[in-house]
Amino acid sequence: MKVTRLLGSGVELADGSRIAAGTVIWTGGMRASALTEQGSGQRDPLGRLHVALDLSVTGAAHVYAAGDVTLAATDDHGNHAMMACQHAIDMGRYAGHNVAADLLGLPTMPYQQPFYVTCLDLGGAGAVYTEGWHREVKLTGADPARSVVA
Ligand SMILES: Cc1cc2nc3c(=O)[nH]c(=O)nc-3n(C[C@H](O)[C@H](O)[C@H](O)COP(=O)(O)OP(=O)(O)OC[C@H]3O[C@@H](n4cnc5c(N)ncnc54)[C@H](O)[C@@H]3O)c2cc1C
Repeated sequence: MKVTRLLGSGVELADGSRIAAGTVIWTGGMRASALTEQGSGQRDPLGRLHVALDLSVTGAAHVYAAGDVTLAATDDHGNHAMMACQHAIDMGRYAGHNVAADLLGLPTMPYQQPFYVTCLDLGGAGAVYTEGWHREVKLTGADPARSVVA
């Protein structure tokens, strides 16, 4: 049964029934925009477009992708961008640059973003800050939350 509303006291389901809960954790996952289905380009199981190193969409001349719709390699070690601001923002910069370069007939730049961090904020319980794709814990407790927000 689909969840249709978040309530202060739990969730409401499609049939109108409610499940009471003090804490609701969303684990439904994410999916790329349905616009990605309009091209013939290859997509991953999340609907993200396969792209070349410069974020040009595979099989679609002069089309570039960035952000949640993009399956982009972040480094030479097999890591790919997450559907997250951390990657969407940088990809946007590269894609914008490369669209302009393409229009002007100049060389495009390969997208690279090897530095990766995660920050899990647990509210009053503190936070965890990790670095690297193996998520090496660098900070825990109340301080990471303050440092990352600052
Ligand atoms: C609830 C939630 C919490 C999140 N929390 C975090 C977080 O803590 N940290 C983190 O790193 N990431 C977080 N994310 C993920 C992050 O928001 C996305 O990865 C990021 O915003 C992707 O950027 P984007 O530019 O690809 O897409 P978006 O930011 O979604 O921008 C796409 C834009 O295109 C517009 N649009 C869509 N379809 C059309 C159309 N057909 N025509 C015209 N305009 C259209 C949309 O209205 C939107 O403005 C969260 C996402 C959600 C949903």
